[in-house]
Amino acid sequence: MTETFDFASWPPALTKDQLEALSLYASTYALSHGLLYLPPAAEQPKIPSAAIHAPISLFPSPFPRRLFEQANRIQKAYDILYARITTDEAFLDEIMGAETGVGRVDDFIGQLWKGWKKLRDTGRLPQPLHLGLFRSDYLLHEAAGQPLGIKQVEFNTISVSFGSLSQRTAALHRYLLNATGYYESSPELVAENFPVNDTIAGLAEGLAQGHKAYGVPKSQILFVVQPGERNVFDQRPLEYELLEKHSIRIIRQTFDELITSASVDPKTQVLRIAVSPDLVPGGSVEISTVYFRSGYMPNDYPTLQHYETRFLLESSKAIKCPTIALQLAGGKKIQEVLTQPGILDRFLANKEKYGNDVLSSTEIEELRESFMAMWGLDVGKDMVLPDTAARESGEEEFGVRKARESALSLVLKPQREGGGNNVYKEAIPAFLDSLPKEERQAWIAMELIQPPENAGNYLLRAGSVNSPSQTPVKTDVISELGIFSWALFGESKVEERTVGWLVRTKGRDSNEGGVATGFSVLDSLLLV
Ligand code: ADP
Ligand code: MG
Ligand code: MG
Repeated sequence: MTETFDFASWPPALTKDQLEALSLYASTYALSHGLLYLPPAAEQPKIPSAAIHAPISLFPSPFPRRLFEQANRIQKAYDILYARITTDEAFLDEIMGAETGVGRVDDFIGQLWKGWKKLRDTGRLPQPLHLGLFRSDYLLHEAAGQPLGIKQVEFNTISVSFGSLSQRTAALHRYLLNATGYYESSPELVAENFPVNDTIAGLAEGLAQGHKAYGVPKSQILFVVQPGERNVFDQRPLEYELLEKHSIRIIRQTFDELITSASVDPKTQVLRIAVSPDLVPGGSVEISTVYFRSGYMPNDYPTLQHYETRFLLESSKAIKCPTIALQLAGGKKIQEVLTQPGILDRFLANKEKYGNDVLSSTEIEELRESFMAMWGLDVGKDMVLPDTAARESGEEEFGVRKARESALSLVLKPQREGGGNNVYKEAIPAFLDSLPKEERQAWIAMELIQPPENAGNYLLRAGSVNSPSQTPVKTDVISELGIFSWALFGESKVEERTVGWLVRTKGRDSNEGGVATGFSVLDSLLLV
């Protein structure tokens, strides 16, 4: 039972022989089943010929069944919530725009918003549907005197990764169970406690729904990818699934390539990608759906032409996963504003606007319970409005002072994705000293989630060419659960489905996670 599971008992003890055998089973299974990365290289070869296995844990990580079910249950409400935020332009303008919102002080957000605004103002957004592949991330939270709960780390609306690799990792742990019984090291290690994970089919289904809604069978889905991407074995299985199960072809391009290859017909707003006529008769492909696995950080837009290309894609009638609006809706600032009084009700309880499609107060409360406390650095005592009084008198805003006082239990976050951007605990005061005043509006403060102490795991990373052998490292860990879903929506109707999950596990002493950045490993769930 949840409340009695002793996290400190994890992982079970293994002998050296058992550990070595398990490592061999794990690494060879990973290599056999595409649980892989391209090796690090100054420049990736055009046609790769080698891969390394992804960083993995040897055991699945214990997670209370009740809380896993809760995370799955509230995903539908999150899907609806983010769909409604996305179609509320006035709200997005106010919070993320370049006139009153984050875009005023954050150049990247400002650029995206301004491009989107211009397309709106000139009537050049012919596609009313938005497609989202989402991942809502959680940590277990242990507050004094309260039962263990889940708290949301963030809600991702662009380029969510590890759908494929997480499915492979769940399969890996099930295989280790079947192959070894984990040497009978724990009574918890039985098949009933290993939940299914079919994320690949689910995410591909979301993309296929976009394609179907576009309605031109011969059209293709465009994957917009980063140059030098190492995480291709997470992306490719979605292509294979789309091809095999849905008979949809995929074309992969970087923004650099799209600058010259993409065009939008001014009469029909059809998006076409020019390719060699040797590859496709006629030399161009009509695009039904644009799936971004790039475009979420400033580095993806090294020149204005890159932004122009994003706006060109946006101005087509292809379905975008995500639209700029949906990308902006995923901002950390939006997540913070959702904790302010009345905001959840505005989107989920407003009968006048949404008729009978409103949520019950129980459902809304369950969603709210997954929130950690957050505030904007620029706010006054009411924790909502900007602290104009302090500003005028030259004092620090209340939000900044509060962040200084409670620095040790906080993380500060800017409007960025992809890891490595946050400021933690003791680093906060000096960071606040150096942060230009006008940039405070772009940052939020968030209470640190407190996962149970003492859970551990064996982490296995691929060796390098020079030192190819590898030994698993036993360490104290924190595991982050992600729930995947897709949503296809316009102004009124939201079609959505929860499709799978992910566990990433990091050493307890590392603030940040990030599998790609080398801090964490792919893991799976053991329901307890
Ligand atoms: P990104 O969009 O860059 O992934 P996140 O908000 O997910 O940003 O933060 C990165 C990592 O920092 C998370 O995966 C988690 O490990 C840690 N983190 C973020 N917020 C919190 C929090 N409130 N409490 C504890 N850890 C957090
Ligand atoms: Mg994250
Ligand atoms: Mg993120």
